Amino acid sequence: MQFVDLKSQRKAIEDELNYRLSGVLEHGRFIMGPEVFELEEELSSFCGASEVVTCGSGTDALILPLMAWGIGAGDAVYVPSFTFAATAEAVALVGATPIFVDVLPDTFNMDPESLTEAIRSTNGLRPTAMIPVDLFGLPADYPTLNAIAATHGLHVLADAAQSFGARAGEHSVGSLAEVTATSFFPSKPLGCYGDGGAIMTDDTVHAETLRSLRVHGQGSHKYENLRVGTNARLDSMQAAVLLEKLRIFRSELETRSKIAATYSEDLGGHVTTPKVPSGLTSAWAQYTVRVPVRDRVAARLQEEGIPTAVYYPMPLHLQPAYRSFPRTPSGLSISEQLSGEVLSLPIHPYLTDEEVQRVVQGLRDACAS
Ligand SMILES: *Cc1c(COP(=O)(O)O)cnc(C)c1O
Repeated sequence: MQFVDLKSQRKAIEDELNYRLSGVLEHGRFIMGPEVFELEEELSSFCGASEVVTCGSGTDALILPLMAWGIGAGDAVYVPSFTFAATAEAVALVGATPIFVDVLPDTFNMDPESLTEAIRSTNGLRPTAMIPVDLFGLPADYPTLNAIAATHGLHVLADAAQSFGARAGEHSVGSLAEVTATSFFPSKPLGCYGDGGAIMTDDTVHAETLRSLRVHGQGSHKYENLRVGTNARLDSMQAAVLLEKLRIFRSELETRSKIAATYSEDLGGHVTTPKVPSGLTSAWAQYTVRVPVRDRVAARLQEEGIPTAVYYPMPLHLQPAYRSFPRTPSGLSISEQLSGEVLSLPIHPYLTDEEVQRVVQGLRDACAS
């Protein structure tokens, strides 16, 4: 059993992929080729954001909007502690200060109360932006977070690296916040065969700045530099891969969601299963349960040939690189507790029904013993 099965996915679309890739080899426009712009249009109609700016990685997709807003020294940017390092890293890299906020125990996403307390006590720094994370594929509570942002004049950058394809009511991830960043790292729900990312927004002026920043701050021609930018382009090969994967993405999301429903039904009495608040759907990048005896359970499952993963074994505020940054005054106890209890189960769209049942039985047995 695979934790992520990219090989079965490739087999399912092999001819189409090869055709697309040989098209790129043939025209030879490896950087900013036609596939990049075709993909941006497809992503825009998929998620409903009027502007989609592809870029080199999910990390670039977090850094570029902060640069475009001119965020830097003296600015406070609120981030959850229970996330992947890139969320806080992007803030520190532009010279601003990440301030760690706690998460909710049932959704794993940013806790609005913890955020409000952090904003109230941001001594000497300018409250400037927040980066809620849609952890494991579930959108954060944007109606509440956007309202807090409006009250305090904060930008909202959604870290949707794991949630592209998820929805909140009628709206898709990409149109739930002012600006949304996603990642096409191979193991994300929509992944390419290398690094890739995209930024989504309805703000055309912001999008123009992002397009300039991703090519060295370029102006109206190649050798005019309007601002200090970087090299943060998605390449044509990766765009070609994504165009083909996007065609099967909706059906893959449905399969993920069916597996999640089976897990939730069959595991409910044995472990704490993830909560999906009403009105939301998850992209199910991960299916993550909570078990107090996590390491023992994971070891048992491994003996049975069932792969699992721990996202994340340590909250960011305890990491050597980030422990000197400020924290919300009420503490980060949920982030700390979760890092000791979370366990992610296999949930890729190529799992067979038998494999799903093996995971269910294996986890039940491991919890009982
Ligand atoms: C994967 C991920 C990123 C970074 O994406 P890359 O494409 O690997 O740079 C950022 N934030 C979160 C929450 C992620 O899971």
